[in-house]
Amino acid sequence: MIGETLSEYRHLSVALLGSGSVGSQVARLLLEEQQELASRVGAKLELIGIAVRDTAAKRDVELPQELYTTDAAELIKKADIVVELMGGIEPAKSLILEALEQGADVITANKALIAAHGPELHAAARRVGAQLSYEAAVAGAIPILRPLQESLAGDNVKRVMGIVNGSTNYILDRMDRFGDTPEAAMQVASDLGYLEADPTLDVEGYDAASKAGILARIAFHTDLPEGAVYREGITAITADDVATAKAANQVIKLLAVVEQATGADGAAGVSARVTPVLISREHPLAAVHGGKNAIFVEAEAAGELMFYGAGAGGVETASAVLGDLVSAARRHVAGGPGLTTPSYADLRVLPISEAETAYQIILNAVDQPGVLAAIARVFADNQVSVAAIHQSLPEELSGLAKLVITTAEAREEALQTTVAELRALDVVSEIVSILRVLHA
Ligand code: NAP
Repeated sequence: MIGETLSEYRHLSVALLGSGSVGSQVARLLLEEQQELASRVGAKLELIGIAVRDTAAKRDVELPQELYTTDAAELIKKADIVVELMGGIEPAKSLILEALEQGADVITANKALIAAHGPELHAAARRVGAQLSYEAAVAGAIPILRPLQESLAGDNVKRVMGIVNGSTNYILDRMDRFGDTPEAAMQVASDLGYLEADPTLDVEGYDAASKAGILARIAFHTDLPEGAVYREGITAITADDVATAKAANQVIKLLAVVEQATGADGAAGVSARVTPVLISREHPLAAVHGGKNAIFVEAEAAGELMFYGAGAGGVETASAVLGDLVSAARRHVAGGPGLTTPSYADLRVLPISEAETAYQIILNAVDQPGVLAAIARVFADNQVSVAAIHQSLPEELSGLAKLVITTAEAREEALQTTVAELRALDVVSEIVSILRVLHA
């Protein structure tokens, strides 16, 4: 095939929905790399049109004007492959369903849509044997879904955890490296265009939770119902929390964690959560700075793997979209049904109370004999082991001791009860902070 002229190749029609940051780069690369892509696929990828809201809008990337249309529904009728890069739930969802129903393969980067409606879209693809892929929906340019789906298909993935939201990583990193207040760091992130139009999607962890749900489905063959990922954002993290972590050679990261876990009933399940976590600076995830993303995979045979790179950006994300596009196009050439991601395992998604995590609790307590014993009893009564305890007598606390207590892993329910009982002790004057800790 290599060396054939474009006209000699079979043509595959590609319809692009959206020409924003990502879509415009996908279109540019499709046009610029046409010969190269044709040689790799064995067919010419012909961009037949680009659906946008405003065909007259001035755009950063110059593309042939005749490609633009506002009629997305008409455009997809003629496509072998549809690339959805509009974002949002509707009309993206209806257009994707329509495209799948007529047998077209679909590629999307729309994490919110896949997280909320993945099962319905997968079912539609399966019915007709079409391929639905969304590598770009999780961690932008980083190849993570296909490695989980294909490269690790023969292994037993135990845990996937990662920094999958660049804006919150940027904010926490500034607080750590430059001592910024949360407000100042957020302002810089906003000025640089790192935050979504609605910043709560980032800082409250919604974006990361969508990605965690997708990762859990692919890694553990289980559909997660919407809202099943436990979520805490970074808005409660103070400059003091970050400084205290730094002094202890730790760093705070917003981590998406999905893992195989045993429920309180003893049955296998999946735990999925997004929370700020204290990480030792020795851990590779601690070295992920600025707006970068990284995903750490633990598999039974492969051991620990890490994937690092750009989690966003128009051209970077376009790379992942084009990878999916080439894969779908090759399937058209080879024939046969599209690759699917079955959710056969159907594991129970555990509530956060059944997750096993570890806490670091910082509290101020009266400095007198017997206080440590009373505090230790609360942990013991709840069957939570204390892994480390550090006591200091800061001058500014006049007569109070500051205790930094790190627990071993325990059920969240037990940890939360422990904290509630500590709070109720007369000798405890204040619980200063509670953070989950990542055990190496
Ligand atoms: P964007 O810059 O806002 O572009 C959206 C495009 O879709 C625009 O061209 C817009 O048309 C078009 N569009 C929106 N609604 C439409 C409608 N109802 N009918 C026709 N066209 C419509 O978005 P983006 O940043 O490229 O993101 C696209 C997708 O990729 C999203 O799902 C996003 O979550 C995902 N993603 C983005 C990144 C990133 O770094 N940007 C990274 C990973 C994943 P007009 O131009 O006429 O307004």
